[in-house]
Amino acid sequence: MEESDLKGKAYLAGWIPWRIKRYKLFAFATFFTLLLPWIVIDGNHFFLFSFDKLKLHLMFVQFDMQELYLMPFLLLILFMFIFGITVLGGRVFCGWLCPQTIFRTIFRDLVETKWLKLRKRIKNKQIEPDYSTTENKIKRVVALLIATVFAFIAASDLMWFFVPPEDFMVYVLHPSQHPVLMGFIAWTMIFLVYDIVFLQESFCANVCPYSRVQSVLYDEDTIMAIYNPNRGGEIYDEHRIKKFSTQKSLLSVNPMAECTTCESCVTVCPTHIDIRKGLQLECINCLECVDACTEVMGKLGKPSLVEWSSEKETLYRKGKTHYLRPKIIAYIVILIITVGIMVVMGSKKEHMLLNINKENRLFGIKHIDENTTRVDNAYTILLQNTLNEEHEYYFDVIAPAAMQGKIKIAVPAEPFKVKPGVVKKKIIVLYTDEILVNDKNKDTVVPITIHAYAVDDKKKIVIDKESTFTFPRADLLKEKQEED
Ligand code: SF4
Ligand code: SF4
Repeated sequence: MEESDLKGKAYLAGWIPWRIKRYKLFAFATFFTLLLPWIVIDGNHFFLFSFDKLKLHLMFVQFDMQELYLMPFLLLILFMFIFGITVLGGRVFCGWLCPQTIFRTIFRDLVETKWLKLRKRIKNKQIEPDYSTTENKIKRVVALLIATVFAFIAASDLMWFFVPPEDFMVYVLHPSQHPVLMGFIAWTMIFLVYDIVFLQESFCANVCPYSRVQSVLYDEDTIMAIYNPNRGGEIYDEHRIKKFSTQKSLLSVNPMAECTTCESCVTVCPTHIDIRKGLQLECINCLECVDACTEVMGKLGKPSLVEWSSEKETLYRKGKTHYLRPKIIAYIVILIITVGIMVVMGSKKEHMLLNINKENRLFGIKHIDENTTRVDNAYTILLQNTLNEEHEYYFDVIAPAAMQGKIKIAVPAEPFKVKPGVVKKKIIVLYTDEILVNDKNKDTVVPITIHAYAVDDKKKIVIDKESTFTFPRADLLKEKQEED
C-alpha cells in the first residue's frame, strides 16, 4: 500500500459521513411522526386540530374551539424556531428535517438507487435514469407504485393531526360517507407523487417560499456548506459570474490550489449546484458535498475543502464562528417567553365553559304568607363539559356578605349530568324570601357570583361567573302583598 493511501486511511478512520447521520435522523423523524398521532393520554393527543369535533389537543390537553387563543402562540413558536435556526444554521431544516427532503431521499437513494438500480450511484445525482429500455420502463412503473404507497401513508399521517387516527380508520372503511376527507387524501397523494417523482428538488429551489426568505436572515456567522477558496483556489472568477474555460486552466494559474477538480462535490449535490461558486439559494445544507470532499481530500491526508462552517471563519478568516450572538440570544429569549406564556395559559385551561344570560323579565314576586313574599330571578345557562368523561354539575350562589345565604336556588333542585363535549342549556331560578334591601325609590341590583362545579371534583372542575339578582323596590312588594 502506498504511503498516501495509508495516510488517507488513517485520516478517515472513524469518520462517519453526514449522509449516514441524516439517514438516522430521517428514520427517527419518520417513525416519530407516524407514531405521535397514536399516543393518547387520558383521551388526548399531543397535537390534534379536529375539525369534525371542533377540538384542539395540545401537549395532551384538550381545548375547545372557544379556547383557540393558544394558536397564535403556537404559530409564533414555529416561526421563531425556524427563523432562529436559519440565522444559526442556514437551510439546515431543509436538508435535515424537511419532509420533502426525506421523501426525496427515500425515493431517490433507497427506491431508485438501492432497490431498483435505476440510478447507478448515490454519489452521482446528476445522471437521470435511462428509461429507453423495457426493463427500466417496468421499473419506473414499480417506482411510481411504491411512491403512491408512500404518498398514501404520508397523506394519512398528515390527516391524523386533523382527524384522530381511531376515527380515521373507521372513516376510510366508509369512503362514500366522508367525501371531504377522501378528497384531501387524494389531492395530497397526487401532489406528493408529482412532487417526489417529477418536480424533485425544483420544489426546494423554485416553489418553496422559505428558500426566498432565508437568504435575508443570513449573516457572516451563519453556518452552512461552504467551499474554502483560500485553500482550494477560486474555481470561478472573483465576481463569480464567468466560469473559467476549464477548471484545470485555473489551477494552472494557481498551482498552490488544493482542489483536485474531481467534481465529487458537484455530482453528489441533490439540488444540482456547484458549491464552489459560493452561497446559492438552492443549497439545502444537506452536507453531501462536505462528505464527498472529505473522502477525496481525506485520501490525500487533508481536511475537506468544503466545510460546514461560516463565511466569517472559512471565507474571510476573521476568527471563530460566533454562535451565541445577540440575534440568536434574542430568538432564544422570545422562544422561552412565548413557551412560558403558552404553558401558563394552557395550565389555566377551563374544564368546563359556562355562559349565563339573565332573562328579560327582571324578577317575579309571589306572596307566600302574610309575612313572606318570595322574589325570584331566572337565568338561561349554557354549560359545556370540555372533558372526556360525563360529569354531574351543580352550583352555589355567592352574594355580598350582608346577603350571604339569603339568595337560594329554586331550579334545578338537583345536580344534572352533561356528557363529554356536549353543551347543555338549562333554566335556573334563584329566589329569596327575605327583604334584601328596603329601597322605596328603585329596584336594587345585587351583584352575585354563580359558582358552578362538577359534583365529583369540586376543586378542579369549577368556574365562577358574575351576574346580578334584581330585588324590587319596596312599594312593588307591598302592592303584591295587598293584591294577594
Ligand atoms: S470534492 Fe473537493 S477536491 Fe473535488 S472538486 Fe469538490 S472541492 Fe475540489
Ligand atoms: S451544495 Fe448541494 S450537496 Fe452541498 S450542501 Fe448544498 S445542496 Fe447539499
